[in-house]
Amino acid sequence: MPVPTMSFLTGIHFGPGMVSLLPEILAEQGVSRPLLVTDRGLVDCGLAERILPHPAAMFDQVAANPTEDNVLAGLAIYREHGCDGIVAAGGGSPLDCGKAIALLATHPEPLEQYALLRGGVSRITADKPPLIAVPTTAGTGSEVGRGALIAFGRGAKLALISPHLYPTAAVCDPELTLGLPPLLTAGTGMDAISHCVETFCSPKFNPVADAIALDGLSRACRNLRVAVEDGGNLEARSEMMIAALEGGLTFQKGLGLIHSLSHPLGAVPGLPLHHGTLNAIFLPHVLRFNAPDCPQKMEQMASTVGIARGENLPEFFSRLISEIGLPTRLRNLNVGRNLLPELAGMALADHSTATNPRPVSEADCIEQYEIAW
Ligand SMILES: [Zn+2]
Repeated sequence: MPVPTMSFLTGIHFGPGMVSLLPEILAEQGVSRPLLVTDRGLVDCGLAERILPHPAAMFDQVAANPTEDNVLAGLAIYREHGCDGIVAAGGGSPLDCGKAIALLATHPEPLEQYALLRGGVSRITADKPPLIAVPTTAGTGSEVGRGALIAFGRGAKLALISPHLYPTAAVCDPELTLGLPPLLTAGTGMDAISHCVETFCSPKFNPVADAIALDGLSRACRNLRVAVEDGGNLEARSEMMIAALEGGLTFQKGLGLIHSLSHPLGAVPGLPLHHGTLNAIFLPHVLRFNAPDCPQKMEQMASTVGIARGENLPEFFSRLISEIGLPTRLRNLNVGRNLLPELAGMALADHSTATNPRPVSEADCIEQYEIAW
């Protein structure tokens, strides 16, 4: 068995009120002119100002799925204002965009050469400005992840992955998620759950990550309904935030077919689909598809979420997804059926496919899209 590399690197400041530590953390990192990377929604609801009232500059135009153009626009502002570090605040999109801006602050363009599928890992060095991640959703885990997903011009969503892309520090303050609307709480929460499920099922050897994934799965399944129904419940919000963080810590095991299917749909121009909501739609079907190749893991996950048999897991998640108000079919999201065959090739080529527990063909991808449609 090959010797695995296991690393958990980001300094994590977790707990209600922790956002007040941000000035101290920036000073510790020697950052005096931070660029705040975020989106309009966070500015409009006042959270951006609460997180960092006086940034040296701000880039608040990150799209729902961050694009290469977003990264270049943020980079221009970073340079124009002589910034020396980045605070990335919001859901996964601003966090991923911030990582890519930090990368290009010291690495030559074009950005695409750093994508995993373009052989980018060896081109990314440790020479980067500090990046502090401040998640305001509980889902992506990007605050402790070494990856960033960026949509490139031709619509491909490519992953930049490197141990040098871990944020320098993460400030996880569950109070920042108290105002998250129910549907977004549900969608992001299902993203966290799908990270725990897929990394646990990944065939790579990393029992440390497995243990973290099961703990995250257990916390998320016990608390997601409450967080959706009673958004002001700080305990449920804290549990969801730690579950999301745990999902992110396990990324290094690799994801699987849920994410392979979800990524191309998230990159379709003009069709802004929520990543976690897409994952929720695929989760039960992919579990059924994978079950014959990971029967023991199905049983372990069943006992983690408190049901008797692994074979009932898909049904368990279907019920959860309906109860928290998420759509269960692609057609509910206005996805045209004619798009699916074209996306199947992109799904097969996705970086997550390699660590799916069951080998996947293009025909399997088409079939999974059809079932989910
Ligand atoms: Zn995800």
